[in-house]
Amino acid sequence: MGDFIKFLGTAGARFVVTRQLRASGGVWIAFQGTALHLDPGPGALVRALSSKPPLDPATLSGVALSHRHLDHSGDLNIIVEAMTQGATRVRGHLFVPQDALEGEPVIFRYLREHLEGLHILVEGGEYTLGPLRFATPLRHVHGVETYGFKFFFPQGVVAFVTDTQFTEKLFSAYAGSDVLVIHTLRLERSDHPDLLHLSVPDAELLIREIRPRLAILTHFGMTILRKKPWEVAERLSERCGVPTVAAHDGLVLDLGSLSVRSGKAQGTGG
Ligand SMILES: [Zn+2]
Repeated sequence: MGDFIKFLGTAGARFVVTRQLRASGGVWIAFQGTALHLDPGPGALVRALSSKPPLDPATLSGVALSHRHLDHSGDLNIIVEAMTQGATRVRGHLFVPQDALEGEPVIFRYLREHLEGLHILVEGGEYTLGPLRFATPLRHVHGVETYGFKFFFPQGVVAFVTDTQFTEKLFSAYAGSDVLVIHTLRLERSDHPDLLHLSVPDAELLIREIRPRLAILTHFGMTILRKKPWEVAERLSERCGVPTVAAHDGLVLDLGSLSVRSGKAQGTGG
């Protein structure tokens, strides 16, 4: 399949996740023989293995977590267990915010002992995993310690603006992104403002300011699912003049061409 990013889940809000109206497996990044699983939420293991062709967590070189919320970390332990060959080997790297290890840690201690590297994400941090290079430019506003990601590929920068309340700091943090993946949980700003999540008007501001070559909306809540995310994305494309698509479970971003292709074989919805 070459180098790609596959969306193993596109669910956002609590009820979309608990009812699995969309899957919540995070994304799988494969680049030059190195694989990284980002945000392995509930069902990530099953989604990866049932993907076509299968994505085997035993082959992962690393796992990264944007923040500790359950919809992002639900399958973290089992994915790390797979990466460490059932905790029989010291293998693989884990990238997490500090607070994922505090209070009630989201990763079991016995698994940490089997990691080649445990890396703490910080604002302005830069990381490498084999040929993969990425940065966490900004600490987001999301209640718990949360970071977004910028991945640097030969064809361009792919950024994940993960869960956050809107702040103008996002503009400079994600400037220069060629592909902008935006966690767009809410339809309107007035929908559950207490949730500290981006809405469609916030996504529009980001797209207009950053002007990526491609924008991908994901991490949908109930209100936006009801309004058909692909139609929301089409209207954003027209208004902003930037190609914008709504991710569906199984969507693949080809890292050679930085274009998307439908991988709907096992997808749900969308
Ligand atoms: Zn969250």
